[in-house]
Amino acid sequence: MKKYDYILAGGGCAGLSLVYHLLESSLKDSQILIIDPNQGEIPNKTWCYWSKEALSIHPQAARFSWNSFYLKDSTQQLTQPLSGLSYHHLNSHDFYAHVLEKIRQFPNVHFLKEEVVALTPAGTEMHVSTKDSGTYNSSFVFDSRIASTDLDQSILNQVFIGIRIKVSEPLFDPKKWGLMDFETRNSNGFDFVYTLPFSTQEALVEYTAYTTEERTEEALLKELEAFLHLKYGPIAYDIQFQESGKIPMSTRQLASAVSPRHILIGTAAGWTKPSTGYTFAPIQENCAALIANLEKGIIEGLAFPRKKRFIFYDNILLSIAHHWPKRLPALFINLFSTSSPDLVFRFLAEKTSFWEEIKLLSRLKFGIFLKGLTRYGSY
Ligand SMILES: Cc1cc2nc3c(=O)[nH]c(=O)nc-3n(C[C@H](O)[C@H](O)[C@H](O)COP(=O)(O)OP(=O)(O)OC[C@H]3O[C@@H](n4cnc5c(N)ncnc54)[C@H](O)[C@@H]3O)c2cc1C
Repeated sequence: MKKYDYILAGGGCAGLSLVYHLLESSLKDSQILIIDPNQGEIPNKTWCYWSKEALSIHPQAARFSWNSFYLKDSTQQLTQPLSGLSYHHLNSHDFYAHVLEKIRQFPNVHFLKEEVVALTPAGTEMHVSTKDSGTYNSSFVFDSRIASTDLDQSILNQVFIGIRIKVSEPLFDPKKWGLMDFETRNSNGFDFVYTLPFSTQEALVEYTAYTTEERTEEALLKELEAFLHLKYGPIAYDIQFQESGKIPMSTRQLASAVSPRHILIGTAAGWTKPSTGYTFAPIQENCAALIANLEKGIIEGLAFPRKKRFIFYDNILLSIAHHWPKRLPALFINLFSTSSPDLVFRFLAEKTSFWEEIKLLSRLKFGIFLKGLTRYGSY
């Protein structure tokens, strides 16, 4: 049985990020195997995150950022500047190209296009069984597999479809991104449009819904087209790129580890912020922390449980999204208009102190949160 130091079960965003951080560390000469049945098939994904500076894994040539954003409903537009933070955009193709270029310099990193079917602890090792290529041995397994059945377990999901469009007339303001535009036609639930303008004539527009129901891509695309028509009139546009997704909005961990040497990472580990779906920055921070611990020889406790109070805040927000979704636009506008946006984004990234949270929460209209508490449950 071939033996590795680290096996990655899943080579998506979290798996490749972990390898990138490993190759930046003193463990860079370890024997590494990345197993993924979809290897080479790069998904169309747009990853955005906020931070002071772009992260080191974000290639220089693929950086685009904004320092101002808006939220809009039928009666008002709230435009806010960021002061210390920027909102960064990275395309998954640029990310994969950058990480794979680094990996190519290391002959000790190997790829296998295969499906992992079972992980079995065996003393100080893990046995990794694949569908057609037998079993491999490893000191540690980093596992980011998510089964579609895992997504079905979540009561609420964030579903979205986005198109990058090019128009012939100047329509967009590239100085600010649209975090949430609630002027959507339908909606018995919480639907909004997210806009990333790259120039006056080019933008990614994304129709997003927090939903308990199945919403097909076709239905979401129709809503997006209706929004574009309502907003800009009968415009013609070229579609340059399309992405879609379903992100579980759950405070429960989707999978569980079978041994201390089996380490869950990425969405499978609960690194997706349940109330917003943002995952990219937590992946980078947790991967860097994981590798730092491994460098120090720390083996136990390599998982990073979320702080309980953030799980509590998320459960309240998810309870509102579930039972009173139409109250969310006013809640988000209230949140971003009563505290500095930098503080709100730090809160959403779970980087605030308890006292900052008390200050931020005490400024909000409380009625809906009390309602949320009456139907409090674990999502
Ligand atoms: C379209 C889209 C846009 C997003 N935009 C943002 C954003 O702007 N900002 C943000 O912070 N987050 C965003 N997210 C959320 C999150 O960042 C991504 O979902 C991210 O890809 C999660 O990384 P991951 O490694 O956990 O999962 P994935 O990247 O999905 O990787 C999981 C990997 O496991 C592999 N796998 C599955 N089964 C097996 C198996 N049996 N054996 C081996 N391998 C297996 C899959 O092929 C896949 O490559 C977005 C998500 C989507 C879908």
